[in-house]
Amino acid sequence: MNLKTTCFERAIFFSWGCKIKDCAYCYMSTQPELRKKDGKQNKQLPRRSTESILAEAILCKKLGWQIGFFSGGIGAYKTEEFLEVLKDLFAVIGEKIWLNIGALSQEELQLFKPYAKGVVASIETVNPEIHDKVCPSKPIAPYLEMFEYAKEIGLKRAITIIIGLGETIDDFDKLKEMIETYGVEKIHIYGLNPHKGTSFENTEPPSSEYQAEWIKKTRDAFPDIDIQFGIWIDRVGRVSELLKAGANSISKFPAIRLFGSEKAKEIEKQARLAGRKFQGTLTMLPDVNWNAEVDSLKLDADFKERIKQKLNSYLRKMKKA
Ligand code: SF4
Repeated sequence: MNLKTTCFERAIFFSWGCKIKDCAYCYMSTQPELRKKDGKQNKQLPRRSTESILAEAILCKKLGWQIGFFSGGIGAYKTEEFLEVLKDLFAVIGEKIWLNIGALSQEELQLFKPYAKGVVASIETVNPEIHDKVCPSKPIAPYLEMFEYAKEIGLKRAITIIIGLGETIDDFDKLKEMIETYGVEKIHIYGLNPHKGTSFENTEPPSSEYQAEWIKKTRDAFPDIDIQFGIWIDRVGRVSELLKAGANSISKFPAIRLFGSEKAKEIEKQARLAGRKFQGTLTMLPDVNWNAEVDSLKLDADFKERIKQKLNSYLRKMKKA
């Protein structure tokens, strides 16, 4: 595992909203039902346009950001629709992508396999009692079933956990067992973000030492695993410590909105403090002919125009920051 470099990983989301909506720590659990203008409940979760998704993917590619995974609300797309978006994304980034879209069936895994590097299970916590409490409608078992079949057909497996939900470091052995049993190759170690309106609103986020301890134990037990950690805006000062603990990459930073900001500069500085070369950039827009990038894609001319518009609106935001 290369621990001489590090990079930023961006998760690309395709929808807002979630049909589960009751994970106790999640911002979505505080949101009212999304309703149409006529007051009727929306049958479909609000989705991003495909041009917006692809514009973001082009940005990631040119700025050297890895795409952590492609994710969004379960049920936001019909399977065939999702497959089309996935094919477009694959065409733009030129490589397979991790999927974090709930527990997928065998048929779905087969269908998405040509474009998927692997599947991500949002485990959140390996402590079963806490899991029952904080994710009442998101059981772990279907994810593990998905892993069994993913393994059979050669798809990689990754998990996400959030520390600070009430678990202790003594739960690490359960995580270790899960990684071993299912051949997990990548783990995202996030820290609780206490959202207003949730039952965690007044809970302290986990300390940097505690987040580092989870990373270090994972690294010691699994020298080859890919470890990514989440920081949020308020935790850029812990990047160096978490990299030194053995993580590979950094996520959960609003890299477009805060491109070139002091916080973005601090992340790159923290990487240097940890003795890592920061691949890509959070601070300097490279000299790229962005419209030509879009023109080179094998897509309809109208569609390319819409991608350009989105891409240029992101770039304007990034230049203003
Ligand atoms: S499934 Fe995900 S988005 Fe939905 S409530 Fe749970 S954590 Fe939030």
